[in-house]
Parts: sequence; C-alpha cells; structure tokens
Amino acid sequence: MKTAVVTGGGSGIGAAVAQRLRTDGYQVATLDLKPPTGDDHTYGADVTDPVAVDKALNAIRQQLGPVTVLVNAAGLDGFKRFTNLTFAAWQRVIDVNLNGVFHCIQAALPDMLNARWGRIVNISSSSAHSGQPFMAHYVAAKSAVNGVTKALALELGLSGITVNAVPPGFIDTPMLRAAEERGVLGGTIQQHIERTPVRRVGRAEDIAAACAFLISDEAGYITGQILGVNGGRNT
Ligand code: NAD
Repeated sequence: MKTAVVTGGGSGIGAAVAQRLRTDGYQVATLDLKPPTGDDHTYGADVTDPVAVDKALNAIRQQLGPVTVLVNAAGLDGFKRFTNLTFAAWQRVIDVNLNGVFHCIQAALPDMLNARWGRIVNISSSSAHSGQPFMAHYVAAKSAVNGVTKALALELGLSGITVNAVPPGFIDTPMLRAAEERGVLGGTIQQHIERTPVRRVGRAEDIAAACAFLISDEAGYITGQILGVNGGRNT
C-alpha cells in the first residue's frame, strides 16, 4: 500500500484530498498547523519550519513506510492593498505557500528517488492565472509554485516521479468563507456563482478528484502540468 502525505490536511481541500486518497486505498498521513483530533496519522507541524517537517516525515516513514505521494495543500491567503502591505506580511505568505512547498518536497523526495516512483501535486491557485487585487504576495507565491512544478517535472521525470499543480478557483472551504465574511472576495459567493460558467461554487472534492487522477498510475505520462479546476472561471 502506498503512503501519501497531505499538507494542510486539517481543513478544506487538504482534508478532502486525504479522505479521497484513503478511499482509493492509500495510507494517508496529514500534516497541519492545526491537526484534526480523532483522525489517525495526523501530524502537527508548521510547513515553514524545516526541522518540524523533517521530524514529521521521519515519524510518518517509521509508522507507514516510505512516502511516495505528496500533496502540498497547506496555504495561507492574505488581502492587503500593496501600499499597505508590510514586508513581514509579504514574507509570511511567501513562507507558507512557497517555502513550505520547498521544505515538504525536500523532506519527501528521498523516498521517491529510492522507489524510482513518486507523485507530487502542488495546490497553487487560479489567481496565479488571473491575478488578484490586494493579493500580490499570495499571487507571487502561487505563481512560483507553478514554476517550481514545471522545473521539477523536468528534473525528476527520469526518476519516475511526476510533478503537477492543481490551481483551484473559488472552492467552498473555510478559507473562502472567511474571505467572504471579511468582505474581501469582491462580492458574495452567490454573486460569484452567477459569473461562474458552470454556475456553482467548487467543492473540495472537485480538487480531490483531480489530485486522485494525477496520483494514479494511469497518469504516469502527465507531468509539469497546471490543471485548472475552477468551473471555467479561468480558461
Ligand atoms: P483552509 O484554510 O480551509 O485550509 C488550509 C489548511 O492549511 C488549514 O488546515 C491550515 O491550518 C493549514 N496551514 C496553514 N498554514 C500552515 C502552515 N504554516 N503549516 C501547516 N499547515 C498550515 O483553505 P483551503 O481553501 O482548503 O486551501 C487549501 C489550498 O488551496 C491552499 O493552498 C489555498 O491557498 C489553495 N486555494 C484555495 C482556494 C479556494 O477557493 N478555497 C482557491 C485557490 C487556492
């Protein structure tokens, strides 16, 4: 049985990916700042802390065996007019969304290289495609995640490892609901639905389905791709 690690697995998209992979027969460990209580194999770690990430990955290896699937879903949004954006806020958003991906891939990769098989899926954001006002730090980080995905796909293909990104757009999770409540969505969720070609908000399970496909053996010829799952909002 393959072992998968899902970061940000304590909420929203990460939780749905973890659930889907369990259903598909993977052993799943989740890694989150706020690990859910009551679930098996949940690990508390801040993805920006390489020591904590390594410690968690080592514990997972010991408990569940080599980690050959990694889904990077931990993320932090932020909304600030650029003129009011502090460097500290810029850095924190880059740290979680981009440097966290670096640390987690670094920690998991040795197992994939040993197995000569691996799957990495990075959850970026449709805002990397469209841009988004007041989110320069977030858009920068997520665009870089797409870039890392492309570079690593070229570097790791020969080792049997695929690297893809899924940029979600407008998925009903605690992150989206919090943005609506703070009035920073540029309209209500209902107003956004009316502007979405498929006329509904996305579900975390929509993202999980894309991840499950990219992780499957039959997707072995797909790498370096940015597979938008956004109801047609960014084509
Ligand atoms: P969410 O807030 O529900 O879940 C994010 C999870 O990441 C939380 O459990 C949180 O504790 C965890 N996390 C945050 N910082 C962390 C850290 N430093 N270390 C470890 N864990 C950390 O949000 P979501 O909507 O499920 O987002 C999942 C991913 O999808 C994120 O990367 C987000 O940027 C991306 N995304 C979401 C949407 C959307 O519409 N919901 C759109 C574009 C991109």
